[in-house]
Amino acid sequence: MSRRRRLWLLALCLPLAAALYPLAAQGAIEPRLLRYFTPKEILRHDAYLFPLYAHAIGDFAVSLALQISFLLFRLNARLLARCDLWARALGARLVRVGILRRLGAVLTLLWGDAGWGGALLFVATFFAVLDALGLPTGFYFGYLHERRHGLGVQSVGRWFYDYFKAETLAVMAHGFLVFGLYGLARRKDRWWLWLGIPSSILLLGAGILDPYRVQIMHDYLPLPEGRVRQSVVEVLQKAKVEYQDVCLLKMKDLTRRADAFVIGQGPSRRVVLFDTFATAMTPDEVANGVAHELGHIGDRSPGRIWLASATLLPSLYLLARLLRWLGRGGRLGFTSDRDVASLPAIYLAFALVWYLAAPLSSAYSRHLERRADDYALELLRQPEAFRALMVKLVKLNMADVQPPLYARVLSGHPLAIERIERAETFARQHALPMAEPNPAMFQVPEASMPATAGP
Ligand SMILES: [Zn+2]
Repeated sequence: MSRRRRLWLLALCLPLAAALYPLAAQGAIEPRLLRYFTPKEILRHDAYLFPLYAHAIGDFAVSLALQISFLLFRLNARLLARCDLWARALGARLVRVGILRRLGAVLTLLWGDAGWGGALLFVATFFAVLDALGLPTGFYFGYLHERRHGLGVQSVGRWFYDYFKAETLAVMAHGFLVFGLYGLARRKDRWWLWLGIPSSILLLGAGILDPYRVQIMHDYLPLPEGRVRQSVVEVLQKAKVEYQDVCLLKMKDLTRRADAFVIGQGPSRRVVLFDTFATAMTPDEVANGVAHELGHIGDRSPGRIWLASATLLPSLYLLARLLRWLGRGGRLGFTSDRDVASLPAIYLAFALVWYLAAPLSSAYSRHLERRADDYALELLRQPEAFRALMVKLVKLNMADVQPPLYARVLSGHPLAIERIERAETFARQHALPMAEPNPAMFQVPEASMPATAGP
C-alpha cells in the first residue's frame, strides 16, 4: 500500500474512532447532582447530548479528512482546472451583456488575468462539495434530533431557509476573501505585509471605535413595561451601566432554548432577552441573568485587542511560509501561496490551529464566566435566585450536568454544578438565606419545557 493511501486511510479512521468515543464515556450519576435534578432528567439530557457530541467530533474529523484527501489526491488541482474551463465557457456567453463585460474587465485588471472566474467557481464548488456531504447529518442533528427531543419547534421550511441563507453568505464571504487574498499574493511577494499592516491597524481602530459603533437592528422588540422590565432596569441602574433599551427577541417559534445577552457598547448598548427566557424565569432570576451578562462588559479589554492586532502579521507571515513549503514540488496539488488550489491547505491549517488552541481558549472563557458569575453574586447578593437561574437554565436547555472529559475541556462555561455550588458558597460566606435544595424546588412552567419526553 502506498504511503499516500495509508495516510488517507488513517485520516478516514480518525473520525470513526472519535465519533464512537462519547458513547463509551458515560458514567454513573454523581450523588450531589440529585439535590437539583431527578435521575430521569439527567438520563434524558444524556440521551439528547451524547449523539450531538459524537456528531460534533465526527463532523470536525470528517471535514479534516476531506481536506486532507483533497490535498493528497490533488483533487484541488483537478477541480481548479475544471472550474477554469467552466468559467471560460460561461464567460464567453456572459460577455455579451454590456454591464457584465465591464465588470469582468475590472476584475481581470485587479486579478492580473482572466483566471478570477475559475478561482471564484473553485471556492463555490469546494463549498458545495463540503455542504452536500454534511447536509444529511446536519439536517438530522440540526432539525430532526432537536425536534425529537422537544427543543426545536421550527418548521422544516424555515430550517432549510436558514441553512441555505447561512451557506450562501459564507460562500460569498469566502469568495471575497479568496479574491482579495490571492489577488494580492499573485502581485506581491510580501502579500502578508501588505495585508497584515492595514488589517492590524483596522483591527485596532475598530476596537477604539467599538464603544460608539451603531448596532445593526434586528427584529428586537422593546420589552413591555412590567415587573420583568422593572427588575432589568434596576440591575442596570445598580451596575451604573449605560444602555439604550431592554429588548425581547422572538425565539419561541424556533426553539425552547432560553438565553439573554448584551450587545453594543456605551450609549448604544442593548440588553436582549429571549422571549423563552423572560417567560420561564421569575423577575429575580432574570435580574441575576442580566447581572451575569453585565459582568462580561469588561471582558473586551484593550489589551486583548492589542494582542489580536499584534499576532495578525506574524500569523500571516507563517501562513505564507507554510504554503510555500507545502507547495514545493506540487505534491499536494499546488505550487505556491499564489495558487488558489492551496485553499484546502489554508482551511486545514486554521482547523488544526483552532483545534490545538481550543483547550486554552476554552479555559480562558471559563475564567471569564466565573468572573461574571462572581460579579452577579456581588452586585445583587441574591444567591438563591442565582442558583435557581442556573438550575432552570440546565432544565430548559437540556444542558449536560456531567459531561465527558473532552466536553469539559472544550466547554466555554464551567460545569453547571460548579456554578450552582458557587452560589451556595457565596450564601454561606455572607450569611445569606439559602434553602436546602431538592429537584421539586426548581420548577419550570410546563409550557416552557422541552416538549416531549424524548425517545
Ligand atoms: Zn457568560
